[in-house]
Order: sequence, then C-alpha cells, then structure tokens
Amino acid sequence: MIKQNMHIHSQYSWDSRLDLDTIASTLAQNQISYGAIVDHVEFDREDVSSVIQKFQIRNLEIDCINEQYQGKLTLLKAVEISEPHRYPKEVARLSQDVAFDFIMGSIHHIIRDAESRYETEDAYYRYYKEVIEMIRANQIDVVGHLDYIHRYYDRDYSFYGQLSDIFSLLQEHDMILEMNTSAERRCHWNTFPSLEKLARYRLIRNEIIIGTDAHRENELVDNLEQAELITKELGFQPVIYQKRKRINL
Ligand SMILES: [Zn+2]
Ligand SMILES: [Zn+2]
Repeated sequence: MIKQNMHIHSQYSWDSRLDLDTIASTLAQNQISYGAIVDHVEFDREDVSSVIQKFQIRNLEIDCINEQYQGKLTLLKAVEISEPHRYPKEVARLSQDVAFDFIMGSIHHIIRDAESRYETEDAYYRYYKEVIEMIRANQIDVVGHLDYIHRYYDRDYSFYGQLSDIFSLLQEHDMILEMNTSAERRCHWNTFPSLEKLARYRLIRNEIIIGTDAHRENELVDNLEQAELITKELGFQPVIYQKRKRINL
C-alpha cells in the first residue's frame, strides 16, 4: 500500500476548506503514515509578510496534530509555490522564515484557449520553457504535476528537446518529480506527468513522491491504488522529505 499523500491542500489554501483535523483522521483511517500539506502560495496576489505569518500559524497547528497522532501519522510542512522563479526575493524570504519539510514548485499560469495547431504548440513550448526556468532558479525541492498543461488539450504536444533539458536539469539540481494522481479525475490522463514521461524520468532516477492534489475530503486517497501499480511497474522508490532532506520510505 502507498503510505503517503504528498499533495494536500488545507484551508490555508485559497481554494480548499479542508481542516487539518479532517485531513489527519482520514489519512490515519486509510493507513497513510505521511501526509504533506502543500498550501498554495501565489505571489502575484499575496504579500510575503502575510504569507509568512499564515504558514507560521499553520505549522504550529501541524505540530499539535503530529503530537496527537504520534506513531500513526506525520503531517509534513510543505508549500506549493506558483511560478516561484518569478519571485526570487519573496521565495528566499519565505524559505528563510518558515521551516518547510519541502518546497514544491508548480506552473499554473498556462495558455488554456489555444485553438490552432500552431497556437497549441506555442502554449506547450511556453509551458515547458517556464518549467525549465523554474528548475534553473534552484529554489525548490520537487517539481509539482509536470505535464499539467495536458489538462486543457487533447494530446501531448511537448517537444523532445525541452524534456531532455528538464530531465538533465533535475539531475543537476538534485530535484525530483511528483506523481500527481489528479489527472485521472481532472482529464483523460492517468497521472501528471504522463506514463510515458514517468518512464523516461525513471531512466535518470528512481525517487518520487506521490500526491493526490486533494482539495476535498473524498480526494485524500484518490487513485492511490493506481499510483501504487505504476510505482511497482516502473520500479520507483517513494520518498518523503523532512527539513528539506529526502528520506526513503
Ligand atoms: Zn498545482
Ligand atoms: Zn496543488
């Protein structure tokens, strides 16, 4: 059984109303020993001081829950920052002032309404270019839901060369990918990234984190059986992070 869900949004995220108690009890009921709370940070609309304050309060709440569930469940203190490379000063301050177990970087600003083939390829090119810039900025531990652009289009228009760059940069900066199971409920793909890219990623490393991108209670264990099958099939080793260091499970 997969023992982790490394992508959970609590009520400290603008788009989730899940409280930490519900998250903890649901995970414990499902024998999941590690849950990472990765609340959203969007520096295009949030001020760094209030973000820091919010996460400090949240982390105290996580400490209380971890004490309550000792030996059963550990909640990790994490964050999902949108386009972190665009906000170097803010990200530096946030990671200095708040003790995170890991920092996930994700690209959310995606062109969703491309119509012609040319426009679609351009949207794909820009998406992966932004992923490359994010990895190069070297501020994060994990790349969240690579291939998220697939959510808006009917097939994979990515470019081989850009993906080669992404995989070699992941090596260079010692970052790993997340296997995000929300693809199954959000569109017709199995996971973000696609199986094909997961297989390619496996050629360079076997460490991975697995998350459901939960915003609701019924998404807390969503498609974890399938993630387990893929993990076994491709030979991945699920890891967790503590204090920004990887630990094998
Ligand atoms: Zn996301
Ligand atoms: Zn998310």
